Amino acid sequence: MPDLTPDPMPDRAEPPRDCSLCPRLVTFREENRAAYPDWFNGPVPSFGADTARLLIVGLAPGLKGANRTGRPFTGDYAGDLLYATLLDFGLATGTYDARPDDGLTLRDCMITNAVRCLPPQNKPIGDEVRACNPFLAARIAALPNLKAIMALGRVAHEAVLGAHGLKRAAYPFAHNAIHDLGDDLTLFDSYHCSRYNTNTRRLTVEMFRNVVGDIRGFLDKS
Ligand code: URA
Repeated sequence: MPDLTPDPMPDRAEPPRDCSLCPRLVTFREENRAAYPDWFNGPVPSFGADTARLLIVGLAPGLKGANRTGRPFTGDYAGDLLYATLLDFGLATGTYDARPDDGLTLRDCMITNAVRCLPPQNKPIGDEVRACNPFLAARIAALPNLKAIMALGRVAHEAVLGAHGLKRAAYPFAHNAIHDLGDDLTLFDSYHCSRYNTNTRRLTVEMFRNVVGDIRGFLDKS
């Protein structure tokens, strides 16, 4: 008889729509499905082509943004700065109009999140980041041309290290830090382009553009 027991931790880059790994996030998802039946309300899939050399890792979908539209950063305040910057540096083409059908295409770039489901108060807990980490590891493994990862914030940075089995102490997070992860892969850190960080000027548009500009230069040379 074949063993038909489903693998509880499948080696795949995208969680199933009804992923059940995080009880708190499942409860929140069900509440949102009831309250906003027209919204996406599921694990938000990565956006971009498998041929990408750059993977951008965010934190988690925002309630009225990616969780509503089903595309990372789309409709989120953070998406305005992220997509405008990618367009300026030739990492996207078309027009960003905060809708998944706006025709925007990423070039040589993919966007994903450390946690694919919407967390309450935009704050995933450690167990949720860990539970989602195999999806990030599989996402990274499924990008054969990958050269660079941009981590948006400390949680994304640590999720990338976790996906590679690397120790945090050896790769401290800092805005503008660049880490050689081995295997021909370089990690670029940025503060998250959130409304809070830009309003408080922890992250300015110029600071964010500088990191993306460095990545552009790195890709052009590699
Ligand atoms: N939207 C996302 O998809 N990810 C973030 O980290 C923030 C907003």
